[in-house]
Amino acid sequence: MPASYCTGCSRTFSSTSAFDLHRIGNYTRHQRRCLRSQEMSAKGMMRNDKGQWTLPPTEKIAPWYVSVEAKMLKASGY
Ligand SMILES: [Zn+2]
Repeated sequence: MPASYCTGCSRTFSSTSAFDLHRIGNYTRHQRRCLRSQEMSAKGMMRNDKGQWTLPPTEKIAPWYVSVEAKMLKASGY
């Protein structure tokens, strides 16, 4: 997956899913903002050796991440 750079907080994320996870608030009310490092850590997000923020290793927050994994298992004949 390509890395995603956020112009809002100048952080880089290892995937778009990780990027999405750090943006919170309501779009229509223009209340979108970036999570603080502390808040991302609280969600279980971590930084990899490239300094990119990654999703929590055991993903319980983003169901789409799990479903991608399930598809991969299916594709491999599981
Ligand atoms: Zn950001």
